[in-house]
Amino acid sequence: MDSSRVAVIIEDDSDIRELIEVVLRQSGFEVHACNTGVEGVAAVESRRPDIVTLDLGLPDIDGFEVARRIRLFSDSYIIMLTARAEELDTLLGLESGADDYLTKPFRPRELRARVAAMLRRPRAQGAGTPTNTADGQPAAPEQQSGASNAGDWPGEVKGTPAAAGLRHNGLTLDPGTRTTQVEGDDVELTRTEFELLQALLETGRVVRTKADLVRRLRYEDYDTGSFISDADERAVEVHIGNLRRKLGDDPRAPRWLETVRGVGYRLAPSRD
Ligand code: CA
Repeated sequence: MDSSRVAVIIEDDSDIRELIEVVLRQSGFEVHACNTGVEGVAAVESRRPDIVTLDLGLPDIDGFEVARRIRLFSDSYIIMLTARAEELDTLLGLESGADDYLTKPFRPRELRARVAAMLRRPRAQGAGTPTNTADGQPAAPEQQSGASNAGDWPGEVKGTPAAAGLRHNGLTLDPGTRTTQVEGDDVELTRTEFELLQALLETGRVVRTKADLVRRLRYEDYDTGSFISDADERAVEVHIGNLRRKLGDDPRAPRWLETVRGVGYRLAPSRD
């Protein structure tokens, strides 16, 4: 097992903190736990974790502010924990910077499932934890686009990095470099937004249901029967909303992201 995986827990309830610690240790993480938001931000800065669990209600600064501060310097995978379902609804209406959400009380296996999903996702090159080779040199381009991610990217043209970018109506998304451009200008997307956009670019006019997109974010290649809640589907809606705003896409006359009412999303028709 990869012993370099690090987690930071930001949680003021000691029972929950201990539960999370146990789950993450069992999943192979080196765990650092903090009671307050300020300590948590400092721990993320010094430990550079792969994953952060973040309680929304903390004694000093709230989880939104903690996430905002973390996002200034870190691409860590943030799981936000909320005490009540109503809080979750508020949370999903805002751009919190979190990648995933859990409502308390939760079962250890729910947290384990989210951690497992996070671990299936490919790492962004050069962001967060270093992905360079042991001698400090960046991995060669053919390594980045080829064998290391084989099977992760069904739409990627293997072995031809120059042709690997997905294009549609002036937007380019490159899974190899994890970059997105609109008319040549870079657009900064979170990992989750990037993966949703990639999923829709790959399947074009085929409708993707919200549940299908949740599974894609969990890196489940097919319906494995894992539980998908309303909150999971709401989270997809929120991420799509944030994605539209960042791309400058108009939902009423979409250039890229078309809503199929009551079902899900697909790529808007080509304007070429
Ligand atoms: Ca709390």
